[in-house]
Amino acid sequence: MHSNISIFVPHVGCPHKCAFCDQNAITGKQKLPHKDDVERACLQALGQVDDIADTEIAFFGGSFTAIPRDYMLELLSAAHKYVGEGRFKGIRISTRPDYIDGEILDILKSYGVTAIELGAQSMSDEVLTANERGHSAEDVRRASRLIRQNGFELGLQMMIGLYKSGHRQEDETFDEIMAIRPDTVRIYPVVILKNTRLAKLLESGEYKPMSFDEVLGLSARALGAFTEAGIRVIKCGLHASEIVEQDMVGGFYHPAFRELCEGLLYRQRMETELDKAEKDGRLTANKELVFAVKKGCMSKAVGQKKANIGYFEGLGCKVKVTEENGIGLYEVRLLDDAEAAHRYSIYNKKLIKRSKVCGCFYCGKIFAPDEVSSWINEGCGTALCPYCGIDSVLGDASGYPVTENFLHKMHERWF
Ligand code: SF4
Ligand SMILES: [Zn+2]
Repeated sequence: MHSNISIFVPHVGCPHKCAFCDQNAITGKQKLPHKDDVERACLQALGQVDDIADTEIAFFGGSFTAIPRDYMLELLSAAHKYVGEGRFKGIRISTRPDYIDGEILDILKSYGVTAIELGAQSMSDEVLTANERGHSAEDVRRASRLIRQNGFELGLQMMIGLYKSGHRQEDETFDEIMAIRPDTVRIYPVVILKNTRLAKLLESGEYKPMSFDEVLGLSARALGAFTEAGIRVIKCGLHASEIVEQDMVGGFYHPAFRELCEGLLYRQRMETELDKAEKDGRLTANKELVFAVKKGCMSKAVGQKKANIGYFEGLGCKVKVTEENGIGLYEVRLLDDAEAAHRYSIYNKKLIKRSKVCGCFYCGKIFAPDEVSSWINEGCGTALCPYCGIDSVLGDASGYPVTENFLHKMHERWF
């Protein structure tokens, strides 16, 4: 599994003044790492990580290529020793798009850097200017092109909900990033820290941020669409930190922001599936709707504190989620009755005992529950048909009709 050895490099003496950045808070609280720190981190990781060939040394914290050159080279040469055959996979850095050119890329390449992340933040010049980024959208396009042409992995970071960014500007950013098709993306909803220009604009009423739900919706859309396009979303939401929790005066922060986005994505996709089924006349008057999702994604689909189940309950639908192989991340499939009922043919001992009538969807026989005398999977028990011996028994306590027609429909689907 991929892992990073993260080394935080505060942006020493940054000449910029982005409206959302509180350099004092960040640089004041962090110690500058030096070559010994890099070596110590690498040596420590060598003894700990499972797969060193899939581990990268990551210099994070802002604008790596804009820090004093000697200092940048000190850090890179310390890391370079640990990269290559039998050692770590490579080095990742993050930087500003206006600090990328051919010369810098040559240096980075010679020191084993393999991935470069750019703080694009927005692809609207209006928004970049209003937030005093000091670079243009064209800088992002140009730097992205150069990074690609030089064979590096490209990452883009975007911020959602910046000052003067409305839906049009958010769409512009989303569309352009999609068109650039970076290898990775980080999605950061804006967090307004005290002592920043954004905090002043917020206080004066000049900056009227979007609502949390709007930003959540935009972030979820980006997360879903980038994932589908094969762009790895390596971050969605700022991670919890002392700085954020103490110094935040506004904006969009939630300690589990990504999970919120994932829950929303699943809910939207379930709604789309329902609409389609309704239009195609596939919705039966059945008591529950069963959605299949990718294995391991049950909790994402159900939502935090089962929010999605509650949401559908509010609409009068009882929703269940089941996991299946062959379904992609964030994809959902509404099971039809014959598929959904199949869940009740496994570990069904209690259910069979509660049923009034049972049927077998292999041989089609209908019989009384007490005729079942053989079970597999001792304990929870899976009933075997008393006529054909197959584990395909459905009891009416499942809520599904034990009728000739329905058993036939299940037979067609499963055999
Ligand atoms: S966010 Fe802007 S002001 Fe802050 S360190 Fe990066 S470039 Fe400098
Ligand atoms: Zn049978």
